[in-house]
Amino acid sequence: MSTVFVSGASGFIASHTVQQLLDQGYTVIGSVRSESKGEALVKALKGNKKFSYVIVSNIADAGAFDEVLKSHPEISAFLHIASPFRMNVTDPEKETLIPAIQGTKNVLESIQKYAPQITRVVITSSDCAARENDDRNPSITLDESVWSKATYESSKDHPVLAYLGSKPLAEKLAWDFVKTEKPKFELVTVLPSYTFGPQIDDSLISPTLNQSSQVLETMLYSNPDSKLQHHTGSFIDVRDAARAHLVALTSKEAPNHRLILSSSRFTSQSVYDILSKKYPQLNTYKGEPESDVAEIATFQKLDYSKTKQILGFEYIPLQKTVVDTVDQILRVRA
Ligand code: NDP
Repeated sequence: MSTVFVSGASGFIASHTVQQLLDQGYTVIGSVRSESKGEALVKALKGNKKFSYVIVSNIADAGAFDEVLKSHPEISAFLHIASPFRMNVTDPEKETLIPAIQGTKNVLESIQKYAPQITRVVITSSDCAARENDDRNPSITLDESVWSKATYESSKDHPVLAYLGSKPLAEKLAWDFVKTEKPKFELVTVLPSYTFGPQIDDSLISPTLNQSSQVLETMLYSNPDSKLQHHTGSFIDVRDAARAHLVALTSKEAPNHRLILSSSRFTSQSVYDILSKKYPQLNTYKGEPESDVAEIATFQKLDYSKTKQILGFEYIPLQKTVVDTVDQILRVRA
């Protein structure tokens, strides 16, 4: 079985992807930012001998992946999942936009120079790279051909806009690279929506969770008087996001496609309703029960049938995702 490289291996989606690759018998080399992150991942993976890590403290550093690719000619595929995904940044251009774009460029250039044996590259983008601005227009249908109109200039000064711009700009760079450089590898991009779900191991429930898990955690620790940010969009379970990366790696149909992952539309209310029915003793924020249905009807429509046909599996529904996530958090934080 071949050796796969995964960047940002200790991250939420990447650690599930690493776990599933190991379960399928692959050997995995992952990059992490520090030894402590690497060791925590080794522990979470129960010391699986087919996993090893290298330290790449910043994917934006010149030649960040050169050494590992030079010294591991056995790597046959590269999953580039690392990208800054935090909203509490002080310099959005330096902390979010540049690493996302430059990191992707570094990956592609390193492979081109030092790893001609790599046949498949999978890059994790986001459904925000495939959105129209007018989100509340049900007469618009989004599909895999839609591109965000975010520009470098419109993104660089605000933490949230920087994230929303970082994904399409990095993804576009990758498709342009393939067009102009005509590399030997085939490219697939994976565009998850809000990704929720449990961590691969209870030991990874750290005091501060990754950005999207924090969204659920904040709702879980709410009370009827909480002032909460309203979230709307599509969601995907992290285990399905990882599974999609494995299909992107192996499927004959996937190359040259953008795989956009959406299990269903949701709003914060959809989550409040699950929490209050399943965990009434927690007395979480109630909102206006079932008002999500009317709100979702105002959203743009989605047609990701091309992705679903390539993936060929059914997605986990929101109810199971929320319950599995919450059960783990409550178990660990009890
Ligand atoms: P995480 O924050 O858990 O994972 C991101 C990973 O990238 C972490 O391992 C992080 O390391 C690493 N990383 C970030 N910046 C750098 C950098 N400058 N140099 C080196 N490593 C870096 O988030 P997710 O798992 O959720 O995100 C994974 C990918 O999925 C990202 O590309 C994200 O944009 C995308 N995505 C996520 C969605 C979600 O809702 N979760 C939705 C759509 C797309 P460290 O933690 O040590 O800083």
